[in-house]
Amino acid sequence: MGVLKVINPATGEHLEDIEETSLQEVDAYYSRAREAFKKWSQLSIDERLRYLKNLKHTILEQMDELVQTIVQDNGKVPTEALIADVMPSLDGIDYVVKYAKRELSPKKVNTPLLLIGKKSYIEYMPRGVVLIISPWNYPFQLSIVPMISALAGGNTVILKPSEVTPYVGKYIEKLFQKAGFPEHVVQFAHGGKEVGAAFTNGNPDYIFFTGSVRTGRIIQKVAAEKLIPTTLELGGKDPFIVFADANLERAAKGAVWAAFTNTGQVCMSAERVYVEKTVYEKFLQLVKEETENLVLGTARDSDVGSMTYPVQKEIVKKQVLDALQHGAKLETGIHPDEWDDSMFVRPMILSNVKHEMDICREEFFGPVMPIVPFETEEEVIKFANDSKYGLNSSVWSSDLQKARRVASQLITGAVNINEVAVSVANHHLPFGGVKESGIGRYHGSAGLTIFCHEKAIVVDSG
Ligand code: ADP
Repeated sequence: MGVLKVINPATGEHLEDIEETSLQEVDAYYSRAREAFKKWSQLSIDERLRYLKNLKHTILEQMDELVQTIVQDNGKVPTEALIADVMPSLDGIDYVVKYAKRELSPKKVNTPLLLIGKKSYIEYMPRGVVLIISPWNYPFQLSIVPMISALAGGNTVILKPSEVTPYVGKYIEKLFQKAGFPEHVVQFAHGGKEVGAAFTNGNPDYIFFTGSVRTGRIIQKVAAEKLIPTTLELGGKDPFIVFADANLERAAKGAVWAAFTNTGQVCMSAERVYVEKTVYEKFLQLVKEETENLVLGTARDSDVGSMTYPVQKEIVKKQVLDALQHGAKLETGIHPDEWDDSMFVRPMILSNVKHEMDICREEFFGPVMPIVPFETEEEVIKFANDSKYGLNSSVWSSDLQKARRVASQLITGAVNINEVAVSVANHHLPFGGVKESGIGRYHGSAGLTIFCHEKAIVVDSG
């Protein structure tokens, strides 16, 4: 059996080894999960939610250690670990605890004339064993939120966390143990893509996947053979649109946050910024100043952490070099030829970028902000929608009528007007993408009901 090495990307320090789950174990995991399902699915929602409340208390008790674990494993700054990874998970638990009963209790429906005298309702039946495969950029939130949603519905869960952040994966396992969940209601499979593939090819009733488009396609193919449903949360190439009548200072701060938070390793980050030509130069100066003030590091007062995954650093390097070779200008940041071996990459702003360049088409998932001028509303909508992705987008204008008109025409799962990716922070809103950004939604009502079959029941009193 192999081990996963926990390496702090910011320091290179080797922290621990985590034992990989043996591929021989897959069937046993599913058998145990099915056995545990028998009892777990029969508990009342209130009883199941009590375990989720315990989990919340355990997280709160371990907060400092948890934040440190995320920082050490991922290289992000502590504020981001707290605000963008741990807090949304706690919010998610609160949402589920508050609304699961309303969403998953039987719902009466009207009876048509044809069925007069009979009662009709919808019942929510858990699917069974849910396999959740999670990524490394928000290793806590993107594991916890689908897990608790599936558990509330009466499913048992197998989590396969990312091998790039195995320390957090192992920590989640310890948190669930501490919270006192019944045996085998939640199980953990540690390892890389071979382990992910073996569990996908095992016996799940539902797969919830967050990760790359490439892996999403593989999982969807396996699921198609088995005729099992999936949710796929994949990549993004989010447009950030700034009209001349926007509050430019605020838009510039928003763009810098949206492009460089989590070192740009965010599916909802601003990956291409379109600015109306008349304010292009002014906006460029504003974002440059703002970016040059950013402090790199993983200390409490740092702004931008390290990148997490060496493979990703190489992808960013390749994409930036390609853009520079095609005429883009590096306005701030360090030329990739001069990067050092550390995982810290100074945020880069690129001007002279054309919408047709790869840097505006392929996801780079790193600290880069390419800026493209546009002339008309029609042109920028065309640019924004000319993408294989459709996850998030952002529109900045003081004319809210115009901003709403543009928002309605953007082919994305979310639009934030005069804001960055905050829609994800409201658990009442659905989250998910269109086109190659994914299939399905979670958070909100959908986040709970996707993990259940809707069963139609008609009763005649006889
Ligand atoms: P990234 O390249 O950004 O790490 P991946 O899509 O490769 O994104 O990884 C996301 C998650 O999917 C990780 O937990 C990873 O181990 C898992 N994974 C990778 N390949 C497969 C596969 N073929 N089948 C199932 N899971 C996989």
